[in-house]
Amino acid sequence: MDTRIMKKLGITNSLLGLGCMRLPTLSDGSIDYEHGQRMIDYALEHGITYFDTALVYHGGESETFLGKVLCSRHKRDSYTIATKLPVGRFNTLEECKEALETALNRLQTSYIDFYLLHGISYEAFKRAKGMGVLDWMVELKAKGIIKHICFSTHDTPANVIKILDEFPFEFCQMQLNYLDWEMQDAKTLYAYLAEHEIPIIVMEPVRGGRLMTIEGPKVDALKALDPSASLAKWALRFVADLPAVSVILSGMSNMEQLKENIETFSPIAPLTKEEHEAIAAVREEILAVPVVPCTGCNYCDVCPQQIAIPDIFTRYNDYLRFGDLNGLKRAKQQIDPARWADQCIGCGACKAECPQHIDIPELMKKIAELVG
Ligand code: SF4
Ligand code: SF4
Repeated sequence: MDTRIMKKLGITNSLLGLGCMRLPTLSDGSIDYEHGQRMIDYALEHGITYFDTALVYHGGESETFLGKVLCSRHKRDSYTIATKLPVGRFNTLEECKEALETALNRLQTSYIDFYLLHGISYEAFKRAKGMGVLDWMVELKAKGIIKHICFSTHDTPANVIKILDEFPFEFCQMQLNYLDWEMQDAKTLYAYLAEHEIPIIVMEPVRGGRLMTIEGPKVDALKALDPSASLAKWALRFVADLPAVSVILSGMSNMEQLKENIETFSPIAPLTKEEHEAIAAVREEILAVPVVPCTGCNYCDVCPQQIAIPDIFTRYNDYLRFGDLNGLKRAKQQIDPARWADQCIGCGACKAECPQHIDIPELMKKIAELVG
């Protein structure tokens, strides 16, 4: 297993981290402990030392699972745990304190290696700061209850840089993959973090699985180089080739995925110039697909039906790029059926506000019909 050192923190981790947000489950949706335990043991035996969870994963069961099968069964200093505070859900510091107590109890540990503010935007960061959350985290670190103060984010590079200008977070967990390198301008944030030697934890290296399922001529350039290599492997090798990346998270759901990922990272092969060019060619093919030019500005937030317009367009664009109709169908439940496209009454209030002149009511009708 390849390892990387977080130079500023003096910590060496496995390059592959086990994300515990999509653990194996039983038919009733609960975590399959027997299968999960075998995965955790196999991961440790094969050099994985970084385990990522959050208060909210698996409805809170993910932390409990790690407490039972990892912390209570394996030497605590033989691995590191990252867990996250969903600060956006809380209104007071007291609620945050309770969440930390819950996490420590569930994890059966007296300390957390990396404590992250979960999925913060610049706005959420300012709110957390106003609630006293950052001062509290500094106190926790001084007491040794948390070892490092970190955050995860999906915000724009400009906003993440503003966050880092205001508080010295010790690492940044960001969405990074070969498509978002250009599409979400991840390369700008990567360059900033690399220049300032802020360790990078990568989430979504295969873009929620979408980069694994691309079909047809879009991926010809990669198939021509190695017809047997999985698309997931290409995506993982792209992020592993970035030297400022410390850990690459993969949310693994079964032993087969775990074994395949461990094989990929033991050790991971650097990309050749030709392979870089092939990945860039695939990216260009995907980016050439015409999509709805929604920028997520939210000016259409005047909808009397509170339709989740930008979120729906994000998922519809993924459908256009990757052809995953089931993913779009799932989006209805994941976003909120009460705010889905089929609730649009065609009033046109949103259309008048949209700076991109998108025919929103027409598209809502089309998406509603498509999903059925
Ligand atoms: S046209 Fe549909 S989406 Fe637009 S404001 Fe009216 S109800 Fe909302
Ligand atoms: S106003 Fe237009 S561009 Fe902005 S979020 Fe709404 S649909 Fe997208």
